[in-house]
Amino acid sequence: MNDAPAGNFIRAFVQQDLASGRLEGRRWSGAPGPAADHESATLDPARIRTRFPPEPNGYLHIGHAKSICLNFGLAADFGGRCHLRFDDTNPTREEQAFVDAIIDTVSWLGFQWADDQESNLYFASNYFEHLYRFAETLIVAGHAYVDSQSPDEMREHRGTLTEPGRDSPFRDRDADENLRLFRAMRAGEFDDGAHVLRARIDMASPNINLRDPVLYRIRRAHHHRTGDSWCIYPMYDFAHPVGDALERVTHSLCTLEFEDHRPFYDWLLARLAEAGAFDAPLPRQIEFARLNLSYTVMSKRKLQELVRHRHVDGWDDPRLPTLAGLRRRGYTPAAIRDFCERIGVTKSDAWIDMGVLEQALRDDLEDRADRAIAVLDPLRLSITNWPADRIEACHAPVHPRMPDRGRRTIAFDGELWIEREDFVETPPKGFFRLYPGNRVRLRYGFVIECTGCEKDANGRVTRVLAEVLPDSKSGTPGADNYKVKGNLHWLSISKALPAEFRLYDRLFVEAQPDAGGRDYLTTLNPDARRFVSGFVEEGLADGDPHTPYQFERHGYFVGDDGDSRPGALVFNRAVTLKDSWAKRR
Ligand code: ATP
Ligand code: MG
Repeated sequence: MNDAPAGNFIRAFVQQDLASGRLEGRRWSGAPGPAADHESATLDPARIRTRFPPEPNGYLHIGHAKSICLNFGLAADFGGRCHLRFDDTNPTREEQAFVDAIIDTVSWLGFQWADDQESNLYFASNYFEHLYRFAETLIVAGHAYVDSQSPDEMREHRGTLTEPGRDSPFRDRDADENLRLFRAMRAGEFDDGAHVLRARIDMASPNINLRDPVLYRIRRAHHHRTGDSWCIYPMYDFAHPVGDALERVTHSLCTLEFEDHRPFYDWLLARLAEAGAFDAPLPRQIEFARLNLSYTVMSKRKLQELVRHRHVDGWDDPRLPTLAGLRRRGYTPAAIRDFCERIGVTKSDAWIDMGVLEQALRDDLEDRADRAIAVLDPLRLSITNWPADRIEACHAPVHPRMPDRGRRTIAFDGELWIEREDFVETPPKGFFRLYPGNRVRLRYGFVIECTGCEKDANGRVTRVLAEVLPDSKSGTPGADNYKVKGNLHWLSISKALPAEFRLYDRLFVEAQPDAGGRDYLTTLNPDARRFVSGFVEEGLADGDPHTPYQFERHGYFVGDDGDSRPGALVFNRAVTLKDSWAKRR
């Protein structure tokens, strides 16, 4: 990662805003509130304020990471603060468990919202009272009215993209009647859906979002934080700008589909500012392109479906693009942050290849991961001239380019595991590994010469036989006497630890699983996960899920945080050493 903040249009926007002096003189009381709360406070120590506003209705995915890195990154680069705000205004789909998981994930990614003075952990549901009062403010000023049309009638009056809408027959109710009805809505005097509160803007606007959008609806639903104290809930488009303004957010970043909502965002805050609820500078909404990643799906609805219908094991299934899944698979926070840096921030939608994410992980783990040996598809190799009971200690670097990380010791004896694919009876052209008559080096150990093999009744090789060249040990002067082309990894059968390896692949076989309205479930990759049993070297006995390893030739692995334990090791392959997907297709 480079130190200089990478350029993007949002950064340029913020820079201009700062240079223009627009943001100067902002006061901040230390907690969210309307203008009156901040008026007599000190100047805001934060030069800008951004926020990451997840709805706690699911787990975060790699697309959210883009937003997190952008919002927290901007705040860090410009001497600002980034708030973590739960946009929990839709009670039916939200849960405390999601709140906890999101907090855990954002911290894991390496970002902090709190400092000595401020917690900066906020909940839109804490703003319900403010929101209610602002709704009354709008009613009094003539900017909102209670509409009593049925949902069907409302839909019919809304018009279409090409036809203007028509006014509701209730649009001209006076402020007093609106206030009375709205208070009665809050008091629970009406059934769900009997009335809504709408902004009074323009039913003929070419922008449908300005055709008197709904601000409040009646909904008797239990909220995970406010319980049953409310039976009316604010709409997202009303709650979001208000939350931003209460928190004195300067730059409110969101994805492109909200571009058409910006006029309402600005309209609403301008009306509330006129009424004295907020003062300048008001937050500004800026849109950027959402992340689309090939061979996976990112919408919470689809992820939820995959989990609920058990196409995967849970939200943290390593095949999923959820941050919990990527974490369990072995992705590091640094790799994810680096990925977000590499893809940048633009104003046009594009698909990013899964290979870009994988490469970011390889680049991070190349230095970070200790080297180790694993045999994933074991075949027995017997060295027939090895003295019984002799065990020879062999040494290998923990990291080949960083000698200061030390050496590991691997026991060598006469009964070893090698990879099944490293032996053939009749070698194809260019095969340099084991076949009868050929010599190879057992890496960090000795040169051996293959003398034959044993097979079972089905002709399957059960054991390879070889003889050692006793003066060929790596690191001894004799080693140079032997020039061999093959270099195999191996483990002593008596010392190796059994382990399960979970090998992952693309979750979908199509790059854009849901392209053209296709049912994405029909493109699920049945081979996206494979479990194999093999062995790892003796030093890995604790199966620590937090230490990544490069298993030579096989890729980067980490112990499974959940299933791996001493005596029953389970390793997830985070990523292979090279991108082989393109070649296999
Ligand atoms: P989904 O469509 O998957 O349900 P969402 O936008 O509804 O996602 P939120 O919890 O509202 O989910 O998202 C929190 C923040 O993350 C929002 O500011 C949203 O714009 C951003 N975000 C969500 N998905 C992506 C994505 N794929 N790329 C970039 N930002 C995203
Ligand atoms: Mg959303």
